Amino acid sequence: MPIYEYTCQECNQNFEYLVMGRENPACPKCNSTKVIRLMSACGFISKGSGGQTVKSSSSSCSGCTATSCSSCGH
Ligand SMILES: [Zn+2]
Repeated sequence: MPIYEYTCQECNQNFEYLVMGRENPACPKCNSTKVIRLMSACGFISKGSGGQTVKSSSSSCSGCTATSCSSCGH
């Protein structure tokens, strides 16, 4: 079960919550349910930049070291 980090919109309290199912956690400080799940910074960035890197690196081929893929057919 994943533990997510949340921040409360009411009092800006940061807290971690063990999510079971799709329940919404409540702030342990003010009991508000207006909480935002914080995305894991490293996971989110690596996924996004990885996809962008692959797409924008059309100048270099992954199957060869040539700058143009016309030589290897990739
Ligand atoms: Zn709160």
